[in-house]
Amino acid sequence: MGTDFGSASEPGGSGRRATRSLGPAAGDVRLVLLGPPGVGKGTQGRMLADEKGIPVLSTGDILRAAVREGTPLGRRTQRFMRAGELVPDGLIDEMMSARLRQEDVRGGFILDGYPRTRGQAEALSGVLAGLDEPLTAALLLEVSDDEVVRRLSGRRSCPACGRVYHVEHQPPRNDQQCDADGHALIHRDDDRPETVHNRLEVYRRDTAPVAGYYRERGLLVTVDAGAPPDEVRERTWAALAREPAFRR
Ligand code: ADP
Ligand code: AMP
Repeated sequence: MGTDFGSASEPGGSGRRATRSLGPAAGDVRLVLLGPPGVGKGTQGRMLADEKGIPVLSTGDILRAAVREGTPLGRRTQRFMRAGELVPDGLIDEMMSARLRQEDVRGGFILDGYPRTRGQAEALSGVLAGLDEPLTAALLLEVSDDEVVRRLSGRRSCPACGRVYHVEHQPPRNDQQCDADGHALIHRDDDRPETVHNRLEVYRRDTAPVAGYYRERGLLVTVDAGAPPDEVRERTWAALAREPAFRR
């Protein structure tokens, strides 16, 4: 595989650079977001990243950009994504190992959609141990399956910048256009009901155990995400308050 793994300007990234020559600081945020597809990881990740001035690394956004651009990585991963299946660990781990070594990540990061298997969680721990930058926490967002289906069926996404909207809960200012860049919003293929049910099964089988991996290591923080986005944000800050970076 080449190095087509995304960069600071990838869709979904904050685009800000947090360059620093010294090692990690006590207040740094190195956070993993966990939870089923549609629970609100991207929405919360973007809010946190904007507040902290650090990038969100979304594997889904990186992979969708690769598919759109027709890169070798995109050609190898497209069929898994369309079916709502996981892309094989080897491809994802290689992509994220390279991405996490880039300079803009040194001041902290938020991971959205990675790790999604215990194997990926182990690979991530290895990369971060090598960088001497361990995770500060893993945040598990929880809602009912019915709410997940409602959120995904109403989700609309900007294909250019990765911002997400909801037809009822978070509509764009102009009908069907991204507030940030005016691109026409899309309903993702894998957000259609046939694929959503498969994605939820894959989540239960392969990804839910990742929460256990972090619980065993004392890193897991759980938040009830069944409330409007601003309320979930408040709950998240309260739940993470033991971390220096989240004391107000
Ligand atoms: P994920 O990244 O976990 O797949 P998203 O952040 O993309 O989830 O959110 C899925 C959908 O639900 C989007 O349409 C988003 O606008 C909407 N959404 C996110 N958080 C909430 C919330 N707290 N309440 C209602 N809708 C939400
Ligand atoms: P997301 O945008 O996070 O819902 O991801 C969309 C799709 O990308 C998933 O359904 C998978 O096919 C693929 N994908 C994203 N992240 C991963 C990952 N960490 N491991 C395997 N596949 C992934």
